[in-house]
Amino acid sequence: MAMADTNDTYNFDPNVLREKYRAERDKRVRTDGNDQYLEVSGDFSHYVDDPYVESFDRDPLAEEVEVVIIGGGFGGMLAAARLIEQGITDIKIIEKGGGFGGTWYWNRYPGASCDIESYVYLPMLEETGFVPRQKYTDAPETLEYCQVLAEKFGLSDMALMQTEVVSTQWDEQSRRWAVSTNRKDCISARYVVHSNGPLNRPKLPAIKGISDYKGHTFHTSRWDYNYTGGNSHGGLDKLHDKRVAIIGTGATAVQCVPHLGAGAKELYVFQRTPSSISIRNNKPTDPNWLNTQKPGWQDERRTNFESLMTGAPVKEDLVGDGWTEAFRRLFGQLQDERPSNIKLAAWALGGLFSPDMYRLGAKQYITNKAMKHMDVESKVELADMANMERVRARAHETVENKETAESLKPYYRQFCKRPCFHDEYLKTYNLPNVHLADTGGQGVEEFTEKGVVFDGKEYEVDCIIFATGFEVGTDYSRRAGYGISGVDGLTVSDKWSDGLATFHGMHARGFPNCFFFGPAQSGFTATYTFSLDENSTHLAHILSEANKRGATRIEASQKAEDDWVQTIIDKARQTAEFQKSCTPGYYNNEGHVNAQPQNNIYGGGPIEFFALMKKWRANGKLKGLELER
Ligand code: NDP
Repeated sequence: MAMADTNDTYNFDPNVLREKYRAERDKRVRTDGNDQYLEVSGDFSHYVDDPYVESFDRDPLAEEVEVVIIGGGFGGMLAAARLIEQGITDIKIIEKGGGFGGTWYWNRYPGASCDIESYVYLPMLEETGFVPRQKYTDAPETLEYCQVLAEKFGLSDMALMQTEVVSTQWDEQSRRWAVSTNRKDCISARYVVHSNGPLNRPKLPAIKGISDYKGHTFHTSRWDYNYTGGNSHGGLDKLHDKRVAIIGTGATAVQCVPHLGAGAKELYVFQRTPSSISIRNNKPTDPNWLNTQKPGWQDERRTNFESLMTGAPVKEDLVGDGWTEAFRRLFGQLQDERPSNIKLAAWALGGLFSPDMYRLGAKQYITNKAMKHMDVESKVELADMANMERVRARAHETVENKETAESLKPYYRQFCKRPCFHDEYLKTYNLPNVHLADTGGQGVEEFTEKGVVFDGKEYEVDCIIFATGFEVGTDYSRRAGYGISGVDGLTVSDKWSDGLATFHGMHARGFPNCFFFGPAQSGFTATYTFSLDENSTHLAHILSEANKRGATRIEASQKAEDDWVQTIIDKARQTAEFQKSCTPGYYNNEGHVNAQPQNNIYGGGPIEFFALMKKWRANGKLKGLELER
């Protein structure tokens, strides 16, 4: 898609909008931050039971392997695949679900779908030859694809399914990790890869009376089709006589609300903060187009997509969708003569761009004549406001009841929260059985035996569905569900109690032969599989080099770790101001921004991070890692 100029004229008052954004944020900031949520354990542990498989018995295993990979999602699968490509095949993948897929194994709610383009999101399409059926793939096809990947690399034979790791313990004498599971397996591994997923642990709101409710409840990541009928494609026929409440209006709720609206007798959607809902425009894949792509096309495409999203130089928008449109508008027309040394904007969990980055990026590219005499920061803020005006106008035009439409309008910068792309969600509010319960930023107040209370009114319902998301800012071991105990019994909780400390996000001093996959102190991409693939390539390089050198122990040096933490802190400072201006959510640690600036992603953006890692690998010296034979 060719780049278009942004030549908008603005018919809003930025001062009024800025004030409105601030007021909406202030309404939502709470002192309890992450503590407003309940841990899904003890009396609540049934919320994470696996509804998709029958449990089975097997004898405990006692085995020695080269590599244990914890997690059978895309991260674990890619790690195994890239290791196998390097000739490292003695691998055990431990996965608590009944199959591969990770987040896609668990999230089978009706309408579950990926709104990152499938040609970008599904990794290794060139290696597998798989042709996704649509531009945006749905959860069933993604699970099917996980099976394709598993078969291609023979991963099923390496997997221990329905098995949960309970602890990993370093033994200095043998230079191995002892991995224990809930099935009493004892697996001794030279290396352990932690690929347990950033959004793996469902959370519930800690609201008065949550245990009193006598009706049916479940979390969206464990959808109870026995109760609702239907499947991931919809058809929730058992709800025809049921009154249903759904709590939350994030990316998950946006996808399942249309199906609930179509199936339930009455649907009450309890909203705290509206999501931004842009056009999705799904369409079938043209196989001829895909089959005629040149080798290397997928890497080129996903790099192009992430580059656009972080302000890195591109001449063309290959994906051409709602995501890239939003960014094109933010940065204005991209010029061919764009200087290559420009600093890139960063995709930050707490907001995409810092004012500094806006300044650097926008100075070059914003060409809007209406904004000619403004400083660059204001120009980009205006471009963002204009984007959000479009989002708000869509709600206004689509939703017939204008009070409901008003409630559905998001008032914050677009990338303060995960943007959503959907063509049916807003329309659902035109159905007579669908009711938006707008809590004005406060959330539901209380549960009773019969239902949900807000503003003194009790909504009696047969079922409450929690679309309240996943733990992000809590302790690593709590989220992972297992302890990690390294040299001299050092735990990761102790190690990181005063802030994250890693080398390249993957290694931590005191935890030899241990590799962490995830966004922390690493390059984070909207296409999460992209960063997992980069992590996997990096891991495979290190293990293959270690093997060549006959090493049996790999640990980050103290200096390398300290230097990396400083890099993360320096880069994180650039995004803090933007994050503070945002409405709370998991992107900005529920409004408690940068208490520890090192608890961040790599603020220079993923493309810069991947380039840095590539250079580090090319150097060949494994600089910063201490290897022992
Ligand atoms: P989120 O954390 O994004 O949303 C949780 C929702 O629950 C928010 O709307 C939140 O409101 C609301 N909430 C929390 N507590 C209360 C309360 N007490 N009363 C009322 N509402 C409450 O979780 P999701 O599962 O929706 O999404 C998680 C992530 O998964 C996404 O951000 C995205 O990264 C990924 N995802 C991706 C999809 C894709 O297409 N690729 C699809 C679905 C999910 P508030 O905003 O005020 O905090």
